Formats: sequence, structure tokens, C-alpha cells
Amino acid sequence: MKFTWKKGVILSAVSILAGSAILGNVLNDVHVDAVPTAINGIQDAVHETADQVLHASDQGTFSVGGMLMDTDGNVVYTQHNNVVTNDLVFDPTAHGERQMIDWYYENKESLDLPEPEKIILVTSLDPCAMCTGSILQAGFANVVVSANDTYAGINYDKSALFPSLSGTSMQADAQASFSYPAVLGSTAKFSREATGVPVSPIFGDNTAIEDQTYALTSTAFDATLNDVSNKINTDLPEDQLLDPKMLATTDPIYVALKAAYPHALEYTAPSPNNPDEGLAPYLIEAAEQDIANGGDGNAVALLDRFGNLIMVTAGNQAVSEIQTPFMLATRGYAKLRYNLQMDGVSNATQYLGHPKYNTFIYAKGPEINPQGLADFGAFGSTMEGAIPTDRTQFQYGVERATQAELDAFADGLPPFYSDDDSVNVHIKETANQDLIAALAAGLPTTIK
Ligand SMILES: [Zn+2]
Repeated sequence: MKFTWKKGVILSAVSILAGSAILGNVLNDVHVDAVPTAINGIQDAVHETADQVLHASDQGTFSVGGMLMDTDGNVVYTQHNNVVTNDLVFDPTAHGERQMIDWYYENKESLDLPEPEKIILVTSLDPCAMCTGSILQAGFANVVVSANDTYAGINYDKSALFPSLSGTSMQADAQASFSYPAVLGSTAKFSREATGVPVSPIFGDNTAIEDQTYALTSTAFDATLNDVSNKINTDLPEDQLLDPKMLATTDPIYVALKAAYPHALEYTAPSPNNPDEGLAPYLIEAAEQDIANGGDGNAVALLDRFGNLIMVTAGNQAVSEIQTPFMLATRGYAKLRYNLQMDGVSNATQYLGHPKYNTFIYAKGPEINPQGLADFGAFGSTMEGAIPTDRTQFQYGVERATQAELDAFADGLPPFYSDDDSVNVHIKETANQDLIAALAAGLPTTIK
């Protein structure tokens, strides 16, 4: 079957995205200039992502872009990084690839999109852990990468062997699908041999990137990295945060919080980072919702630095397989902060502090699989950088992968996630044994 992606199809996809309940109505102009023609060769494909890189740079977010194309050579969808817009963090998980995969799942049926094995993902920058997990979950035919990222990229050591994924089936899957095409250049900095799996045969003999295009994908990202990091690093220090339970019930922060999460502020842990069994009913209720939403009965609670329950989320995997409870928790919290700031509520982040001061508690611990990898990666993106070391920001109740397995996996992730002076994405069993027992007894056991 031949798919011809005309402008009208792409524009209707944009309107679906703009109307999405998750993304709200602020992303209505992100890629409407993508009027696809057929792609002829790797240079052509990477050039298309470079166009998205420019739009990301113009928006003031990390300069990364990507595209989904079908194995007949047609552009299906283009997207760029949307972590920052209006000089605010819009969504720490809004990397190009993660958004494209959500879009793919959300629209696969209604737009009659090709099956994953007939989709090629092209990206200007090596995928991070979150996006790699998302990509491996989707199972696309080929992943074509332009620039390297030696800090957060899954191919951080440039070996195309993916040691972070060793001991899992994900490693073989990445080795069989990720391509780092040759770069044809006369300089050492902007040329390379091809590594990874050979690119899809649909690219014919045109299997290399020209050095100017490669340089743009590489240098544009480098140029925005520090700028954007500084711009979004404006949160108040922890000792200036205020307890949202002191808010009047008519305060816009209170109103927005309760509208988004009706259980917000109904529970407060006896000590901020150590919830007790009183949290269990909220996690169990959300886990039941998670099963109804196509998940395996997990849930994530977010406590603030005062121990208050801010939200508890189910996943939404019937809509998109990568919408795990944690992904929706971190996206939901960012959206709350973003919308309040856009509405001019200047003290919003004084009551809803940076997520590095919060505690995320899973009902059931992550597994070492693509969704677990995506969650570990999203935790890194949420934290953005070094985190307070006097607490465990990331906890679970019922164990699935063992603590030793989770620790070894976290230690092997790219430097951004595993260096001592960086994010440190470790997840630990929660300390309160009564909470664990209540979850073990009460969580739904339905198997997907
Ligand atoms: Zn990413």
C-alpha cells in the first residue's frame, strides 16, 4: 500500500495535536511549515530534521528536531524539541522523538498510519535514555541519527554497541535499528565513518550526510545547551518554598491544583520524604484506573517538599504505550506550573517548587524494559541537573526488578544520568514497610 502524505493530512494531524488534552492549546504552531516532499537519500532526510532544528532554536528551546517517514520515502510527521517555550519550561519530556512517538500512537488508527516496521525515525541528535526507551517500545524499522551527544545520548561512547543496555533484549534491538551514517567532510571534526546498523535500503546509494548539514545539527544543539539550561534554572531555593496547604481555597494556585488533581493536599506524610500507609489508598485507586487505561496496574504519587500529596497519576497506555504513570506525573506537574505562570500567577513556583525537591513514589517499581528505560530517562530530564542528595526523590513500593538490578542499570546509563555530580537517577524501595505491605495487599493484580 502506498501512502502519500499530502499537506492536508499533515495539517489535520496538527489540529489533533493542538486539541490534545495532555498538551493543551499552546502547541498550535510548532511544525505547520512542514510541507513534505518525498525523501531521497540520507542527506535529504537529515536536512529535513535540520529545518526543525532551526525552528527549535528560534523558539529558544534545545535545538533538536526529527521526522517520521515511511518506508516508501514519504514524510509522515516532523517535530522539534518543545521543552521550553515562552522562556518557561513547558514540558521537560517534550523532546522531538518522545513527542513524535506519542503522536504516532495517538493518531495511528485515525490517520491509518503505517505499522512501526514500516516507519523510519530520523533525528538531528542522538536520542537520550527517555527517547531511546520510547523508540524501542515503538519498534521502528530504522533510527537514523545525525549528531552525537557524549553526555546524554544512548550512544554516548560512539561505539554503537549501547553498553547501557547490556544484559537486556533492548541492546540487540538498538544494535539492529540505530544507524549513525557516514559524514562526508574534509575536517576531522565534521566527518565520520558510518557505525551502527546500515541505513534502510530505501535510501538507496545515498547513505551519507554532508558535513555542512551535520555541522548544523551538531553546533546548533551545542549553542543552545547552556543558554537554555541557564534560562530555565530560575527556581527558588528550597528554603524559600511555601506550603500550599496555607493557601486560601480561592487562591488561583489552589484552584488549579484541585481542578487538575482532586485528591491534592488530602494526605501529608509524617515526614516529607517518607510516606506511610496513609498514601496507599490513593495509589491503589490510581492503579485501578491505570488498568482501565490499558496499563498493568501501576501508579505514581508526587509529594512536595512538605510531604503533601500533590498528585497521583495513572498511565494512559491505551492511547500511547509510552504514557506511563510517571511520564504523566512529570508532564502534569510541569503543565500546572507552566499554565499558572502563563496566567501571570507570579508566586506559582513558590508553592509548586522545582521537582528536584519533590518525591515521586511508584506503587510498583519499574522493570528493566523500554518503558522502564524511558522512565529513568524522563526522571533525568525532569531533574535537569544535580539534585539534593539528602533524600530519595524516586521511590517504589512493590518490587519488580530487584534493587540490585535497578542500581546496576542506573549506574550504566549515559553520564548525564549516572555521574555523581549530575542527576543520579537511582530509585529506591520506600522506607515504610507498612506502606509496602498495604500496597502489596491492595494493588489490583489483573495482568494486562
Ligand atoms: Zn530525548
